[in-house]
Amino acid sequence: MADNSRFSALAAPGVRGLQPYVPGKAIEELEREYGVSNTLKLASNENSLGPPAAALAAIRDALATLNLYPDGAGHALKLRLAERHGVAPEQITLGNGSNDLLVLLAETFLTPQLEAVYDQHAFVIYALAVQEAGATGRVAASRPAADPAQPLGHDPQAIAACYGPNTRLVYIANPNNPTGTWLDDGAVRSLLDQLPSDALLVLDEAYAEYVTEAAYPDGVRLLADYPNLVVTRTFSKAFALAGLRIGYAVSHPAVAELINRVRQPFNTSTLAQAAALAALDDDEFIARSRVLNAAGLDQLTVGLRALGLTVLPSVGNFVLTDLGRPVQPVYEALLREGIIVRPVANYGLPNHLRITVGLAEQNERLLAVLPRCLEPGQ
Ligand SMILES: *Cc1c(COP(=O)(O)O)cnc(C)c1O
Repeated sequence: MADNSRFSALAAPGVRGLQPYVPGKAIEELEREYGVSNTLKLASNENSLGPPAAALAAIRDALATLNLYPDGAGHALKLRLAERHGVAPEQITLGNGSNDLLVLLAETFLTPQLEAVYDQHAFVIYALAVQEAGATGRVAASRPAADPAQPLGHDPQAIAACYGPNTRLVYIANPNNPTGTWLDDGAVRSLLDQLPSDALLVLDEAYAEYVTEAAYPDGVRLLADYPNLVVTRTFSKAFALAGLRIGYAVSHPAVAELINRVRQPFNTSTLAQAAALAALDDDEFIARSRVLNAAGLDQLTVGLRALGLTVLPSVGNFVLTDLGRPVQPVYEALLREGIIVRPVANYGLPNHLRITVGLAEQNERLLAVLPRCLEPGQ
């Protein structure tokens, strides 16, 4: 319609060229479109264990107060998070998922005159947040696919080379989605050492609870040495509460105070706060998630390699596999089998599929049907 361009011209400059984020296909959508049932979704890095029982109980207890607004300050949850991380409650900002915080940081600190740095294959939300703010994204080249340790991973030197006088934000996912690669303590410190004094480094630790590598840094610990650091965490992945939308940032209190001016006063719900608080005390659930994930990563990696596929080493709850050709036919063949995985062409990786670690029998189901989905003619 002719009217489309007329309205498009009315949008803020950063919005005009924006492509909306495409989430993993929903189970209901697949079942409606393909007439399949018993769908297996391994597309959005959700925790296959289901939500922690303690969180569900806390939600039931909180239901009777739904006529009231949430505690906009999230007082109880912030106290508990502060205690857990050894920081002051004033250093915590709650978000509607950590996605909310990644966008709030762009809204708070970026202008059309400024730049943000992120990696070529970084989590796509960074580019969207920067573009929406009208700022310029400086994209650092990733390591080559042939890198022996971290194929397609973040290259700290390339990232630091993008730092400049207009850099205000640097977004780094550790580990990164969709590559599953990670930066060690020395690499993160080096990026912070080189950071311009008027820039902030956002360390997105969405998968931190899964990582067991000895050299993997706890970003919050680095805050004592580097006040320009902002660490984001989420309850969506290991804590298995993606549907509730809750995450948090840990930063210098003055940075938290600035973000607090921009965020909506009630950006996290009563149920999300109650469930998050309960989930934090459920160490057994996190331990179980970690054990299940380690076994599943192994199972998927071994199984996919046995099919002759290249699998990147991952420390997250997902693997990235290189099919060596455009993935769309294989993706669609899997959909017809009732299995949803994630194409990542929007990350500049048209030959790769991202597969979330599921329960052992779910991983097995994927590995069992994949050979016929890979056959030519699919
Ligand atoms: C999943 C994910 C997030 C966050 O998701 P929320 O549900 O919004 O907390 C953030 N960063 C990365 C890299 C992710 O993969």
